[in-house]
Amino acid sequence: MNRWEPVIGLEIHVHLKTRTKMFCACAVEYGAEPNTLTCPVCLGHPGTLPVPNARAVEWTVKLGLALGCEIAAHAVFHRKNYFYPDLAKGYQISQYDEPLCRDGRFLVPTAEGELEVGIVRAHLEEDAAKIVHVGGAGGRIGGADYSLVDYNRAGTPLVEIVTRPDLRSADDARRFLQLLRQTIVELGISDAEMEKGTLRADANISVRRAGDTGLRTRTELKNMNSFSFIARGIEAELARQVEVWESGGEVVQQTYDFHADTGALTARRTKEEAEDYRYFPEPDLVPLSPPPELVEPVRRQLPELPGARVGRLRADLDFEAATGLVTSGRDRLFEAVVAAGGEPRPTANVLMNQFATAGVDPAAVEADEFAKLIAARDRIPRDTFLRAVAESGRPGFAAEPYLAEAAISDTDALAPLVERVLAENPKQVASYRGGKEGVLGFFVGQVMRETRGKADPKVVNELVREKLRA
Ligand code: ZN
Ligand code: MN
Repeated sequence: MNRWEPVIGLEIHVHLKTRTKMFCACAVEYGAEPNTLTCPVCLGHPGTLPVPNARAVEWTVKLGLALGCEIAAHAVFHRKNYFYPDLAKGYQISQYDEPLCRDGRFLVPTAEGELEVGIVRAHLEEDAAKIVHVGGAGGRIGGADYSLVDYNRAGTPLVEIVTRPDLRSADDARRFLQLLRQTIVELGISDAEMEKGTLRADANISVRRAGDTGLRTRTELKNMNSFSFIARGIEAELARQVEVWESGGEVVQQTYDFHADTGALTARRTKEEAEDYRYFPEPDLVPLSPPPELVEPVRRQLPELPGARVGRLRADLDFEAATGLVTSGRDRLFEAVVAAGGEPRPTANVLMNQFATAGVDPAAVEADEFAKLIAARDRIPRDTFLRAVAESGRPGFAAEPYLAEAAISDTDALAPLVERVLAENPKQVASYRGGKEGVLGFFVGQVMRETRGKADPKVVNELVREKLRA
């Protein structure tokens, strides 16, 4: 791979979590009974007219601004024509040569500094219906017995983001996507969950000789539904292309599916020319001209973006920990815990590991209480600590009761209790000292009962022996 440079661009589709669909009043909802969220507009009945969703337009502007894009003064909806049952109208309303957002740049922090990813465009469109092919091989239409169509998804608002081919590794692509996802989530416009399909990413991939500036034939990689699949899929496709070029062959423009279970790539269809969708301006919609009164307040209210926050954390943490905290949405809690006296590194470790495992909502955690827990982490039994971390998001959580348990493995706290148990049972003490070592178990049992089983039996055992020897 050393002599070949990867050239990767991404196309990302993001579902907007608006209350209603893009061009009708049907509800946007996941998991509803199939074909219950439909109307004549999203079913493509003749004579119906689309009405754009103002919130979807506003949120696309918001995302465009976060991506550093220019917001077009004049954006046009186009019809993208193709025949497939997932589109009842026979065309998708999308945007073509006049998208709502264009020419942006998105900065991705890296271990060495920063990677600038150009954004070609971000445009608004409607999603198609969901099709399930039943029977046959692997859910594909070829060989299927029949296909089921669910139009609940038809007409739901989507933003399509297209990047420039600025990514130079599978890892770059993964980092970019994770940061983009966190940005979208924080903007409050989408849940952006790859597993649910509310964030979907396709990659355009080619390789070239290191030092070359031209581009070779690219392929498209689809069907990747997690960040690690994307990274693995891109790796696999890069390796395949290098092998093709190295063996004297030629990469063919084609679409591939990556199968995460087997690691295999399968070709979809040959694209000798760009597909002709016969785009033309949607005659039923006027152009969008978002006025400054809409754009400027959105710009002013943009929150501090995740990418910018990574740099701040690097004062205390290494790059991996800093990005991990930010892209998991735990960095604000991290900063609050550190401000409350938590040591940065252990705090980051606990937030990235035990905290994640327990699935705690960082927004629900009281930083002061969490900081107390971090400070006591080496003094309390491991399972108590883990339980406290897991419960740290509960309403009214306090560290104190867990720290009190900590005392129970602590000899200083247990010694008085052991002494009291011995003092209360002089007969048993005498018989132990007379040679009946089995009585030891009785004392340990008494202490355990007094602490309601919370004492560390090994510590108690040693303490009892020690006191009886005295
Ligand atoms: Zn509808
Ligand atoms: Mn699209």
